[in-house]
Amino acid sequence: MGSYYRARYTGVMSDAWHDDRAKEECGVVGLRAPDGEAARLAFFALFALQHRGQESAGIAVSDGSTVKMHKDMGLVSQVFTEEILQTLPGDMAIGHNRYSTSGSSVLRNAQPIYCTSTSGEIAVAHNGNLINARELRKELEEQGEKFDTTADSEVIARLLVINMGKGVDTAVEEVMRRVKGAYSVIVLTPRRIIGFRDPNGVRPLVAGRLGDSFMLASESCAFGPINAVVEREIAPGEMAVIDENGIRYHQAHKAEKPSMCMFEFIYFARPDSVMRGTSLYVARERMGEELAREQPAEADLVIPVPDSGIPAAIGFSRVAGLPFEEGMMKSRYIHRTFIQPDQRMREMGVRMKLTPIIEKIRGKRLVVVDDSIVRATTTRQIVKMLFDSGALEVHVRITAPPIKFPCFYGIDMASKGELAAAKWSVEEIREHLGATSLGYLSIDGVKNAVGGGKDGFCMACFDGKYPIAVPENLSKLAFEDPPDVGAIGVVKRGQLTLIDLD
Ligand code: SF4
Repeated sequence: MGSYYRARYTGVMSDAWHDDRAKEECGVVGLRAPDGEAARLAFFALFALQHRGQESAGIAVSDGSTVKMHKDMGLVSQVFTEEILQTLPGDMAIGHNRYSTSGSSVLRNAQPIYCTSTSGEIAVAHNGNLINARELRKELEEQGEKFDTTADSEVIARLLVINMGKGVDTAVEEVMRRVKGAYSVIVLTPRRIIGFRDPNGVRPLVAGRLGDSFMLASESCAFGPINAVVEREIAPGEMAVIDENGIRYHQAHKAEKPSMCMFEFIYFARPDSVMRGTSLYVARERMGEELAREQPAEADLVIPVPDSGIPAAIGFSRVAGLPFEEGMMKSRYIHRTFIQPDQRMREMGVRMKLTPIIEKIRGKRLVVVDDSIVRATTTRQIVKMLFDSGALEVHVRITAPPIKFPCFYGIDMASKGELAAAKWSVEEIREHLGATSLGYLSIDGVKNAVGGGKDGFCMACFDGKYPIAVPENLSKLAFEDPPDVGAIGVVKRGQLTLIDLD
């Protein structure tokens, strides 16, 4: 989800926890468990989706008559205790992990979002970003709707709840007719769970079988821990309804050109998830293989930037005929935290997260495989750390093509002015990194690795071809260079969602 009133950029939050990777905005889950333990199962499914958002978590449950909810800032395991789960009895639950911000409005914007109307009550969990939320919100406010949050997701919730009296299918159809952008949404009403996916299918949403019942989640990796199995992906423009009768599907909006986010395949989604019938681990191995063919390097050893670079580094080493070793260890337990690093720790930069294994690195010509370069600050620190550890050469190989354009569909990346590949040539980036050589996988190389045909993906951050038209006011702001952050006040790092223009 995106926030309405964000103060442009916080690109200067360069502490050890805020590296310059692109950030997924949210993970969503919804399930029916007729034993009354729905919240507990939602907890474990959300836990598996923790990589999609680490700032807040929430679960809403229904016992068949009313909706109850708990949400707070922090990781899933910090927000929910055994005692809290016991206060959430019910057969149906939805959950949400959010990546977002610091600042006063954060908890208010945590999800699920709860709304009531004369037609009843609902809770809504949203992954994605709307590009016409501001106009819709204005219109709804003029009609007397009172908003509790500054999140674009509440526009979906309000539109839905005021149309609920017309029936579930009609209400979702109406929402999908009005909202524009990327959205995978899961809704809880007292009697059912509803999921729907935008007509371009930008963000993922998959249905699974959970015993005799069903569930929905952003990724299939949420299914394993609770013994569910994949049923099928929700198609672009499709909705699914889970209730005591099982699951049913309905095409709520005409499907547009399929445009699934390629970054889910490259980096965001967990490697043990399957999307469009492809294991993401296997796809990333193949990206590494393609990369070795397109961008070979004379070297002694292939090492990954852990963890996300591991499958691609394995693929690279296989095709290059070079040994694969782990040259760096990642601290498993540095997540986003409420403890702020001090200045001395900030200066330690990437070493807060990654430790070189000097014995593996010293005296070697290294190929270092990573998934992407956004601003290039982290990669630069990694290259320096490897040379400081005695590497003779550092050949950086990246499985994402150069990121030249901002994302408008729910990925916290950067403005165009902050993207290394938007302002520099590959050679200039190499020079900035201090690397011996730098090679990116091509757009065709990524598509070949993912398989399943060359079409059907959003690759706008690489080629600038946005599948959902972006309003001029948004794109103009997103393409600006970062302003003086200190003068504006930092609310959220990175991307372009919506800015309060008033
Ligand atoms: S612009 Fe890039 S990150 Fe955003 S949805 Fe498209 S492929 Fe994904």
